[in-house]
Amino acid sequence: MLQLDVHSPVNPLDFPQFRESGLTLHIKRDDLIHPFISGNKWRKLKYILQDASDQRKTQLVTFGGVWSNHLLAIACAGARFGFKTTAFVRGEQVSNANLSLCRIFGMELRFVDRTAYRDKPALFQRYFAEDQTAYFVDEGGYGAAGAKGCAEIIDELGQIYDHIFCACGTGTTLAGLCMGKIRNGLDTTIHGIPVLAGSGFIKAAVAELCADGGADDLVLHTDYHFGGYARTTPELDAFIRRFCANTGILIEPVYTGKLLYGIFDLASRGHFRRGETILALHTGGLTGILGMHERLAQG
Ligand SMILES: *Cc1c(COP(=O)(O)O)cnc(C)c1O
Repeated sequence: MLQLDVHSPVNPLDFPQFRESGLTLHIKRDDLIHPFISGNKWRKLKYILQDASDQRKTQLVTFGGVWSNHLLAIACAGARFGFKTTAFVRGEQVSNANLSLCRIFGMELRFVDRTAYRDKPALFQRYFAEDQTAYFVDEGGYGAAGAKGCAEIIDELGQIYDHIFCACGTGTTLAGLCMGKIRNGLDTTIHGIPVLAGSGFIKAAVAELCADGGADDLVLHTDYHFGGYARTTPELDAFIRRFCANTGILIEPVYTGKLLYGIFDLASRGHFRRGETILALHTGGLTGILGMHERLAQG
């Protein structure tokens, strides 16, 4: 058995806007789980790595973009738990801080053009079909095993919330929250804030991963993508600076900045009822800031 159990703390956030509306806002600090196997990536990898280990696989093969938090998590987790790691990276060969960290943790990078990148099972088949040591890990840790690990976020909560929010890329984390809600018999409303512009696939993905009806009353807020994946605006950047400077908690524009902007905006529009409790899930991913720190700092 690999030792992959973790537990993250919950911090209260004290903003006048919430206090004056009788709302309680807490943040679950999955960003504190690990600096590189960060946030929801550790949660998602828990059962993926366990399965790879049970199958006696010694090599993880995965996929991602050049700033993928998932690639870095796989690189670091592979190093820590004894797997060789290989990643197919989308697009032309480039170098950046994220890919350098992946290499430092021993990951082999293979750049592939966008057309070839689209069919991940075909790439795996082509290069690893004969290699019995290789284990396929889908882009972003997407899948049922990933969702199962994220369901444990709900199991470890010390109180019941009216609303729980997370940012979504593939929807795996959101599906896990829905699973955890059903498993714990909660009435909590689960909310997802998609960070991509075309997020129509998320509801179906969550329904598939969480087959027990947990996704039926899920709420998706599709207006907080700020133009699409990794896009931002001066307004979002300014919000992030204010949030960080007021709390000492770092958030970034790709995921958690959009998440918290969305929650603050919904609160200002009267979306919540007086007395309600809200939990934001900090899914980590802070190394993404390395690619944009100058712009974000200067505003
Ligand atoms: C990968 C990532 C997500 C997206 O999670 P999904 O399970 O794919 O929806 C959210 N937040 C952060 C910080 C991430 O790195």
